[in-house]
Amino acid sequence: MTADIIPHTSTDAHQPCWQEELATAIRDPAALLKLLEIDPTQLDSSTAAQQAWSIRVPLPYVQRMGKGDINDPLLKQVLPLGAEMLSAPGFSSDPLGEEDANPVPGVVHKYHGRALLIISPACAIHCRYCFRRHFPYENNTLGKGEWQAALNYLANDESISEVIYSGGDPLAANDNFLLWMTEQIAAIPHIKRLRIHTRLPLVIPSRIDQSCLHWLTATRLKVVMVWHINHPNEIDHAVTQAAQTLKRQGIELLNQSVLLKQVNDSTQTLAALSEQLFEAGILPYYIHRLDKVAGAAHFNVSDERIQQLQQELLALLPGYLVPRFVCEQAGARTKLALSFPKTDIA
Ligand code: SF4
Repeated sequence: MTADIIPHTSTDAHQPCWQEELATAIRDPAALLKLLEIDPTQLDSSTAAQQAWSIRVPLPYVQRMGKGDINDPLLKQVLPLGAEMLSAPGFSSDPLGEEDANPVPGVVHKYHGRALLIISPACAIHCRYCFRRHFPYENNTLGKGEWQAALNYLANDESISEVIYSGGDPLAANDNFLLWMTEQIAAIPHIKRLRIHTRLPLVIPSRIDQSCLHWLTATRLKVVMVWHINHPNEIDHAVTQAAQTLKRQGIELLNQSVLLKQVNDSTQTLAALSEQLFEAGILPYYIHRLDKVAGAAHFNVSDERIQQLQQELLALLPGYLVPRFVCEQAGARTKLALSFPKTDIA
């Protein structure tokens, strides 16, 4: 297939490439608040949270935030808060028990039939609720020459038919490496599908450029891209364009969200998200209960509220626009459906 050329939406002579957008990401909470015209005194004592895990947010994402609004749902996802330093019962550094499912460096293998590769430890954005915020990336960050054990692991297990690129964000890796890795995986006959979990094309839509489309479309593997979009305000024209370009190249686009208190825990917000995802060509697939990672307890939504949201969404939307409500549990062999009383699906 021939890769699309994505038209620039800017009238500027110089349209920054994704690497430049990444390099100029905001790393200081005060700088972000200044840009958003928010009085820094509205911020609680977040210094320790910033020191524990610094803010990182590229400008194309900041531009979708509302000026002067400390409660903006995009800002809430990235702004370090003092609440992150409070311990909460049941919240831990490894909520999904991934360190026990790490058979060789770079591989996480929890579920039958699919294995996950930690392609890149880096992310374009630091999401404060991230369940891998304490993951030992230092033991799983491999140079190109160090991937052979992981590739041997995939080749030696014929039950694996799907490889998942994860991280960090796998699209933070450069395209030469991604092309090479995808060729290595396609050379393993029993692997049929490549699934890519990413937030990068949402945060920086220019990531979907010619070079990225080249390795995505040059492979024999069926490619599925799972976007991680939590709020309809995250989807602007450039994001829609990037998604539609991928869709035209035959890439399946799914979305998974995380339910986040005071970000997207309202029926209207979730309904608008499903509608906008579908407009962009992305199917709303999963909505996850928050993984109980230390530092994120203030994002937790109660089971009672989740049940209410699910029932209200089913009443509001056709069934194919209602994502599956799921959670993950350490040691479980699959994701678990959140089982609430049966409701009719139309
Ligand atoms: S892994 Fe995903 S959720 Fe976690 S910080 Fe990176 S982009 Fe955000």
